[in-house]
Amino acid sequence: MQLRYSYRVYPTPSQQAWLARAFGCARVVFNDGLRARREARAEGLPYLSDAELSKRVTAAKLTPGRAWLCEVSSVVLQQALADLNTAYRNFFASISGKRKGRKVAPPRFRSRRDNRQAIRFTANARFKVLDNGRLRLPKIGDLAVRWSRSLPADPTSVTIVKDAAGRYFASFVVTTTDRPLPGTASQVGIDLGLTHFAVLSDATKVAAPKFLRRAAGKLKRLQQDLSPKAKGSNNPTKALVKVARAHARVADTRRDWQHKLSTKLIRENQAVYVEDLCVVGLGRTRLAMSVHDAGWASCTGMLEYKAARYGRTFGKIDRFAPTSQTCSTCGRLDGPKPQNVRSWTCPCGAIHDRDINAAINVLAQGRWDNSNACGAQVRPAFVPAPREEAGIRPHAACSARSVEGISVL
Ligand SMILES: [Zn+2]
Repeated sequence: MQLRYSYRVYPTPSQQAWLARAFGCARVVFNDGLRARREARAEGLPYLSDAELSKRVTAAKLTPGRAWLCEVSSVVLQQALADLNTAYRNFFASISGKRKGRKVAPPRFRSRRDNRQAIRFTANARFKVLDNGRLRLPKIGDLAVRWSRSLPADPTSVTIVKDAAGRYFASFVVTTTDRPLPGTASQVGIDLGLTHFAVLSDATKVAAPKFLRRAAGKLKRLQQDLSPKAKGSNNPTKALVKVARAHARVADTRRDWQHKLSTKLIRENQAVYVEDLCVVGLGRTRLAMSVHDAGWASCTGMLEYKAARYGRTFGKIDRFAPTSQTCSTCGRLDGPKPQNVRSWTCPCGAIHDRDINAAINVLAQGRWDNSNACGAQVRPAFVPAPREEAGIRPHAACSARSVEGISVL
């Protein structure tokens, strides 16, 4: 399985300038390629192949207008084109119906004002983690890295990211081996909700942490600094970075919390089943803020890859299964229950807590689905690794520089 490991990096001012140049070159190559394909299309010419675009970049380097592309690693430019090609492929697969899920928009031009700037180095760019713990990038230099944990194996690529808060990260893709945990008999069904983040079939209720809500007051104050009125007195860019930082902190806390919960659930259970919620649909309702704050999608994503990695079963059950309407004791379908009905009594005599009953039904449905469709599990790729994961191949600098509190992107 391929996992992402992210670390904070601290480039010097001159390295920052070189990184800015590399971000700029990658952006120009991406935008040139996009423009060429759009123009070809407008003129009724065939779609420009990946190889053709690559040839054009090589040719452009020889022209006075684009000669500065030679200042950055050619791998960075190739990878920018690869991003463009992937964006097109996803778009084509989406309109032809080959790709499931949300519709993918056609690629858009990148801007220097984008919240996230990124460049990628693959193994053939010969990036290297040095014995002194620095990350050597061709034509950039040796970057200081805060190794919050060790890499479990040699990385196949590294992406350098600058986020809206002005922070730099190195995000490594590492191929890891699966590490099945000792078997356990326990299985669990999970009902995701707004009153509780999750209710388990064993009657455990996990309270919703509401990170965003809690930070709302601070975010609001920072947001006010951004208003046109305050613009004259304050540096708007500084205020913008402050807002981005506050949001980043909320996101970090939420992700950590989700990692802890998902690891616990996978560790304690042989099989984990959840209801496949229509998060996109709910996100458009007035519950949007709470839905966004809960982050169910990223949590179920973690459950999915951790299950694959640790030899557990993970299943999503159909979102239209009437889990909250069915009596888990006798199986009677008792009709829709409004959200405010928290408990109900079935004619068979069973008294149900709405959410626990739903979780028990999720478990039953998941078991049934699993026994009828074996091997239907999908292995997700490129997922962020949990923070607390132990490495098997520590780097020299890890122990000395290890600092708590670095998030996974
Ligand atoms: Zn009943």
